[in-house]
Amino acid sequence: AFFEVMMKITMFIIRFAPLGIFGIVSNIVAKQALQGNLGDIGSSLGLYMLTVILALATHAFITLPLLVKFVGKSDPVKHARGMVTALLTAFSTASSSATLPLTMEAVEYNSGVSNKITSFVLPLGATVNMDGTSLYQAVAVVALAQFHAVDLSIGQQFVIIITATLASIGAAAVPSAGLVLMIIVLESVGLDPAWIALIFPVDRILDMCRTVVNVTDRKSTR
Ligand code: ASP
Repeated sequence: AFFEVMMKITMFIIRFAPLGIFGIVSNIVAKQALQGNLGDIGSSLGLYMLTVILALATHAFITLPLLVKFVGKSDPVKHARGMVTALLTAFSTASSSATLPLTMEAVEYNSGVSNKITSFVLPLGATVNMDGTSLYQAVAVVALAQFHAVDLSIGQQFVIIITATLASIGAAAVPSAGLVLMIIVLESVGLDPAWIALIFPVDRILDMCRTVVNVTDRKSTR
């Protein structure tokens, strides 16, 4: 009963989230507009998105296929072909959990991995193994620090790597979980968690891309 009460309160508060985010974003945009920096925000956000997408692509098209080839000793192209439906679903739903049945089907029937392995590794991997999310969180925190002209030391950058990895393990396999858990990474290096509002408007598209990498890495680490 207590859990249900908490859920009701949480859902009530969540309904106001768009309003709150609108307020924070308007505040930032208005301040930047007064200083004549609006164009800067647009180009910084574009550069940030490009960096995340290029990094995710490098991971999906270079690192993971090399792992499949040399560690898994099998053909990455063949596995990628079998995963197409699961990857498209990951892209459109932005949820590894929602994609899980299709990932299991693809890895078992198309890649020929035994049910004993898929039924243990894939559900576990869906929640703890999120390469795309940790990569995105690390890039996003550094980008947010740069937006606000904060110089991060090498030590702080190292802390970001560790906390982003841990936060991605803790993130649920649902849309925007990585963005919310990024608060931990920002706080670990003394940055303001409210800054995530700045990248919120462009997060959905990045969420779709990182979920594809999250689902791809599961197949690769089978
Ligand atoms: N949407 C991602 C997933 O389900 C998690 C995230 O928000 O990074 O894999």
